[in-house]
Amino acid sequence: MKVTKTAKLLVFTDLDGSLLDHETYSFSSAQSALDRLKSHHVPIILTTSKTYAEVVDLQKELGINDPCIVENGSAIYMGSSGFSQALAVGDAQIFGRSYQSICTFIEQLPKNIRVSLTGFADLSAQEVAQVTGLPIEKAEKAKNRLASEPFQWTGAPEGLRELEKLLDGQDMALLQGGRFYHIVSKVDKSLALDWLAKKAKSVYNAVDFHTVALGDGPNDEKMIASADTGIVIANPDGVALTIKGAFGKIKYPKAPGPAGWAQGMHELMDELGLA
Ligand SMILES: [Mg+2]
Repeated sequence: MKVTKTAKLLVFTDLDGSLLDHETYSFSSAQSALDRLKSHHVPIILTTSKTYAEVVDLQKELGINDPCIVENGSAIYMGSSGFSQALAVGDAQIFGRSYQSICTFIEQLPKNIRVSLTGFADLSAQEVAQVTGLPIEKAEKAKNRLASEPFQWTGAPEGLRELEKLLDGQDMALLQGGRFYHIVSKVDKSLALDWLAKKAKSVYNAVDFHTVALGDGPNDEKMIASADTGIVIANPDGVALTIKGAFGKIKYPKAPGPAGWAQGMHELMDELGLA
């Protein structure tokens, strides 16, 4: 791929509640900003707790094939775009523990914790469809996991703290997403963002990349804070995260979900002089 000035922006975005509407999963309110980014050949890197199998379908709908960061930063799948190919790191880069090893850890938890934890591995595709509101074929894809386990917690908060300690001792962590908790290796979206941005800078050494991260959940906080520009997306009720210690480079568009995504992105592109 030819290095051009237009490859400067690198967009990393959360999906549920950010690019996708919290209720309908639609990205139509963000379409104008997506089109504007595409006209400048900006890589759009979906950065999510979802699995690769789920993200591939969405990439098709969006008409993009850039790298994507899945399972909360557990892996990067490279895609087939010019940008992806230029990075030349094979099909995928995987960080942290395998799914099998995480499931074995869950099976071996003390009984008082195990009974309060219901992971996707404990559920049929039908049941995952019920708890997520996804159609059955998407629920099957959500169960096809590589390196992290979402779960629902029905116990007391103290049990969750106890679980957190056990995870910490095994180089794993507890993340809170929009709908579920997640057990992951000590990886997160921001580490995958850093890895990919460094890789891009080393390949395109004449390009001054500007990273942008958009998200709405606690598991997006670090990547929003670590990007050159962070855009915090509000929930439908107007509530938004507050990012500490990153004064001046965070945007808080007023509109929730994908409409806010578009607002924040248009504002940044105006500032950067991208027509
Ligand atoms: Mg979200």
